Amino acid sequence: MGFCIRCKSTWTGLNRAHCVGCHRTFNSVGAFDKHRVGFKCSDPETLGMKMDDKGIWAGRMSEELKNSLRAIRNEPLRHLRGSQGKTL
Ligand SMILES: [Zn+2]
Ligand SMILES: [Zn+2]
Repeated sequence: MGFCIRCKSTWTGLNRAHCVGCHRTFNSVGAFDKHRVGFKCSDPETLGMKMDDKGIWAGRMSEELKNSLRAIRNEPLRHLRGSQGKTL
């Protein structure tokens, strides 16, 4: 759980990122990075992000990131299976 002494907001979750510039909380570092445009905070809403009922901003990027992580995880398995099939 995180706590910001400046805006008194709290949040839970390991991947949450709280911005000390605009005091918004993001559901991932990726979403946080996205709202930092040219070292300035931009409105997450204009970036296509949505705020949940806990006040945490979630970007579409997090889904893409999840999918790419899934793809990375699956890739070596498929590769391993393929090479085993050839050599054995
Ligand atoms: Zn910010
Ligand atoms: Zn804060």
